[in-house]
Amino acid sequence: MTFWERIYFPAILNGMRITFGHLFRRKTTVQYPEVKREFSDIYRGKHVLKRDDEGRERCTACGLCAVACPAEAITMVAAERKPGEEHLYREEKYATVYEINMLRCIFCGDCEEACPKEAIFLTKEIVKSEYERGKFIYGKAELVEPSDPARRIDISKRQTPEVLAFKKNKKFKHNK
Ligand code: SF4
Ligand code: SF4
Repeated sequence: MTFWERIYFPAILNGMRITFGHLFRRKTTVQYPEVKREFSDIYRGKHVLKRDDEGRERCTACGLCAVACPAEAITMVAAERKPGEEHLYREEKYATVYEINMLRCIFCGDCEEACPKEAIFLTKEIVKSEYERGKFIYGKAELVEPSDPARRIDISKRQTPEVLAFKKNKKFKHNK
C-alpha cells in the first residue's frame, strides 16, 4: 500500500465526487403510481384468453399450455361443445374452467409459445396486488377478453412475422 492508499483520503474524495455527480443527473426513478412507465410491447404481464374475429373463445382446452408451464400454474377442465354453442366456442372442445395461479406464475411466456390455437397471450397489464392469496387465482372471468370488438386486447405487436405468416396459412384448419 502506498502512503495515499493508507490514509484513504483520495478514495474518500473520489467517492464524494461520484456521489455529488449523481445529484445533478436526470433522475431514473418515477413516482409510481401517480406516474406510470410505458412498458415494452412484448412485456410479459397478465394473460389474456383471446376470442376469434367472430367473438368465439379460441381455447380448445388441449392442455399444452399447462404441460409447458414450468411453475404448474395453469389448471383447466375441458368440456364438449354442444349443438347451438358454435357461436361461443371455436372448437368442439373448450375450457369450462381455466385458471392461472398468479402467485405461482413466473411470467416466462411458455404458455403463449406452446398454444397451437393462439388462444393465450401475455399482455402489458400488471397483476394487481391483493391481501388474500385466493384472489390471485385468475379464472375465465379475469382472463377471457371482452366480446365487444372495441374492447379487445391488441396482441398484434407480440407476434413475430413467422407467427403472422402461420396465422394466414389456410393449410391449417384453425385459419379457415
Ligand atoms: S407465463 Fe410461464 S409460469 Fe406463467 S402461466 Fe405461462 S407458462 Fe406458466
Ligand atoms: S390456451 Fe392454448 S394451449 Fe392452453 S389449453 Fe387453450 S388452446 Fe390449449
